[in-house]
Amino acid sequence: MNVADSNEIGRHLKAKGLVETQDPQDASIYLVNTCTVRQHAEDRAFSEIGRLGRWKAKRPGRKVVVSGCAAERTKEYLEDRFPFIDLVVGAKSIENFNEIAGRLLDRRATDEDLDYAVPAVNEKVAAFVTSMRGCNYSCTYCIVPYVRGREIYHSIDQILAEVRDRVSEGAREITLLGQTVNSYRHGQHRFADLLRAVAGIDGVERIRFISPHPYYMTDRVIETMATVPQVCESLHLPVQSGSNTMLKSMMRNYTREHYIALAGKMRQAVPDMTLSTDIIVGFPGETEEDFRQTLSLVEELQFDWGFVFKYSAREGTPAAELECLPQQLIEERHQRCLELVDRIALKKRLDLVGTIQDVLIEELGVGRTRTNYKVHVRRESRNLESAGRAQTIKYMFGAKRKPDRAQPQQTKRKPARSASPREAQAR
Ligand code: SAH
Ligand code: SF4
Repeated sequence: MNVADSNEIGRHLKAKGLVETQDPQDASIYLVNTCTVRQHAEDRAFSEIGRLGRWKAKRPGRKVVVSGCAAERTKEYLEDRFPFIDLVVGAKSIENFNEIAGRLLDRRATDEDLDYAVPAVNEKVAAFVTSMRGCNYSCTYCIVPYVRGREIYHSIDQILAEVRDRVSEGAREITLLGQTVNSYRHGQHRFADLLRAVAGIDGVERIRFISPHPYYMTDRVIETMATVPQVCESLHLPVQSGSNTMLKSMMRNYTREHYIALAGKMRQAVPDMTLSTDIIVGFPGETEEDFRQTLSLVEELQFDWGFVFKYSAREGTPAAELECLPQQLIEERHQRCLELVDRIALKKRLDLVGTIQDVLIEELGVGRTRTNYKVHVRRESRNLESAGRAQTIKYMFGAKRKPDRAQPQQTKRKPARSASPREAQAR
């Protein structure tokens, strides 16, 4: 969601004549798009902003813009602590960013302060399109409804226009985004209609969506996934906990049994589908037995991969009023759960050895299977590939390659998380 918001903000700035740069020393505007879902994310954003005081002082006219969820939650604090910030745009205002950015650019001291150039074209092969914003749920641990507000749905026409724009810029895969993306409704249209409409656009070869909520995984959505060829065989369906007591206390609106039955139905309808999830460990009141219920759910459902989060109390949420478990216990459960999730993920990945997969190349040497495994393509095969060319390649699991001196840019890049269960090599 934040990546999509950053892209959207970037598009507004590009439309005003700015070009993107990866080098802060070249930049005239530094945008920090923040997340506040967990404390850790917010802390990282604040330390990044702290460093920008010196960056700004180096050249007159530079602007610091802070956007996103943490900006929404802590606007006054940010303006007090970092007086050099020029503009704080909360997550609820991202839809109006165009107008807000116009005001920021109008406030520039002189034309020389900002570098102008022709608008850049974003040639991303896999693009995100926001179909709804906000969330009507009240999961007791979650800050999102407070910082992003209630659900607003974009019209199908607006979404399709955006999909066409992304396709004309080079996209072949579209990921629809929303906090409960499958609760989409606009007039008569529901999420299944949206999937079909996007699939009807020329040039869209793959469709994904995040994050669906189990409650809205209706038979119509399942049937659409099973029958519309563009919809990929991959579902990220956050479960959060395997204990009914915890699910109730989190106000997740489904039970363990409901989730298990749904996963079974999905796998039956879409047999080669990968199923992944989010889990929170150490929610207030979680007993060893509750935690074991989560481990047993993971064992039972054999998720293809999963993200395991340590519970983080967010001020203003109902769960923040409850007594926290000792941090050491949370850490220990996190480790235990992660080990199990990653062990199963590795086993699943090994099952792919020797299978034939359709890989869409997103950038040189890296692509994705329909089931959402990231694949590193060996150099020998690279003469066949170019970004955006889907290929049928043989998926071979192998040891990670050592850094290649002939390609120094690869050694500089942030290494993929070693535990990442979705990465493999192919040739
Ligand atoms: N709207 C999505 C989730 C958005 S937040 C959904 O309902 O599925 C992404 C993930 O962050 C959540 O699935 C949850 O696992 C995790 N998360 C959210 N709030 C958290 C908190 N306070 N502490 C720890 N993890 C949290
Ligand atoms: Fe947060 Fe729950 Fe809404 Fe997801 S569904 S954004 S976890 S409140």
